[in-house]
Amino acid sequence: MTDTRTRADWENLLATLTPQGRHFIDGRLTDAISGETFSRPRPMDGKPGTALARGRAADIDRAVASARKAFDGAVWRGKEPLERKTIMLRWAALIRAHGEELALLETLDVGKPVTASLGVDVRLCADGIQFYAEMIDKLYDEIAPTGPKARALVRKVPLGVVGAITPWNYPMIIDAWKLGPAIAAGNSVVLKPAEQSSLTAIRLAELGFEAGLPAGVLNVVTGHGEEAGKPLALHMDVDMIAFTGSTEVGKLIMTYAAQSNVKRVALELGGKSPLVVFADADLDAAASAVAWGCFYNSGETCHASTRLVVERSVQEALIEKIRAVTAREITLGHPLDPAAQIGALIEEGHMEKVLSMIAAGENEGAKRAFGAERVMAETGGYYVSPGVFVDMTNDMSLARQEIFGPVLAAIPFDTEEEALSIANDTIYGLAGAVFTRDMDRAHRMSEAIHAGTVWINTYDMSNFATPFGGFKQSGFGRDRSVHAIDKYCDYKTIWQQFG
Ligand code: NAD
Repeated sequence: MTDTRTRADWENLLATLTPQGRHFIDGRLTDAISGETFSRPRPMDGKPGTALARGRAADIDRAVASARKAFDGAVWRGKEPLERKTIMLRWAALIRAHGEELALLETLDVGKPVTASLGVDVRLCADGIQFYAEMIDKLYDEIAPTGPKARALVRKVPLGVVGAITPWNYPMIIDAWKLGPAIAAGNSVVLKPAEQSSLTAIRLAELGFEAGLPAGVLNVVTGHGEEAGKPLALHMDVDMIAFTGSTEVGKLIMTYAAQSNVKRVALELGGKSPLVVFADADLDAAASAVAWGCFYNSGETCHASTRLVVERSVQEALIEKIRAVTAREITLGHPLDPAAQIGALIEEGHMEKVLSMIAAGENEGAKRAFGAERVMAETGGYYVSPGVFVDMTNDMSLARQEIFGPVLAAIPFDTEEEALSIANDTIYGLAGAVFTRDMDRAHRMSEAIHAGTVWINTYDMSNFATPFGGFKQSGFGRDRSVHAIDKYCDYKTIWQQFG
């Protein structure tokens, strides 16, 4: 069914909302112990955002104590699997029922179009919670082979208290990727959302509690990385940190784990993903995949197809097609305007960083084909138009650094060997793609590109059944799929000897 809401409808709905900015600890909304708050301008128009509780070590201690009490008291993991499944399914249903509200909160924080927040982010968040709910009563343990005088049970047991630290680009989706399997496995969680995007995390926790999650099973502490994320990762009573964010902070998380209690760590980090197009490819399909793959969410996507590795003979034709698709389909606009396909960048400082990376790239000789400029400045928001640089080499900064803005670097090649070498010449290994009509070559390239996901003749297609995560400095551990449960569990052997 087509959504017929207008910008005025969304604005009216927004006027009825009172976003909540307090921590959610032990089943209650609560202020920071210090009483401090912080806020930031909203990306869509630079107007003041919601005041958030400024979490620090003392707030983290309180949330971890609540999570530990819930875990040790077995108030959640001790319930019948069917009951836990029912509660999590109810949670998914409540997320769907509050879809418009959650979509607006996500848009207020992130600046993405509200239609995308509703149609993609809210939907995938609810789907994620439902996927893991449905696994709860289908997980079997094992009996290991032994002689007749013994019985050895191999039990898959939850870890205890999981700390989840998440980024600002897809807050609801990434929260669900962590909360779904961690809670389905029987753990308690303390979630520290990004300081830029906490509103939906708080609401998700409230809805989880309303659905029946016992107090302490899901706690949210808002605050800055250094002030709240770091004490969570250093905490002696946290068993695991599930982190999504930059490679730089991912490395810190590993050191915090080593400096404290050798807690487990799972890292989903940055990317600079190659999309390789051979001259025999369907160039229309490739142009559409490149444009949407790189510019969706204003390029603030970890697996964005930011490096177009293109056979030299078709570079010019392909760039023209990308220009046409971008102009025709990827409308940049106010996030409450239903016609907008992409909106604002997350904050002014980030926009300045993106613009300065573009300027530095041009100083190195990067040749602009179109776009990559600040636009809609009169709104007070932080908008940058999708842009492409051509005839690049893979050693230029625009081809190496994660820009996290709508900027594509096109790098021409002459042979398949060269294409592969460019594709793999990066510290990252999150995703990649190959476009060709030669299926032997498609298979060879997809096996050889060193990345967690490789698409053939498409980009960014996935569902919950497929694992997502990276190789190399894009991290380790996988979100999504049945396998994600494994990282929130450990094996325990119970050996019984007879006679
Ligand atoms: P970031 O690393 O700056 O922050 C991520 C989270 O870490 C935030 O909650 C932040 O408060 C917290 N943090 C910051 N410093 C910390 C510290 N010293 N100790 C503990 N926590 C700390 O990343 P970001 O700017 O929010 O997000 C963008 C990055 O995330 C990009 O690099 C992007 O590629 C990556 N990302 C990866 C994936 C993936 O699945 N691989 C998905 C989305 C985003």
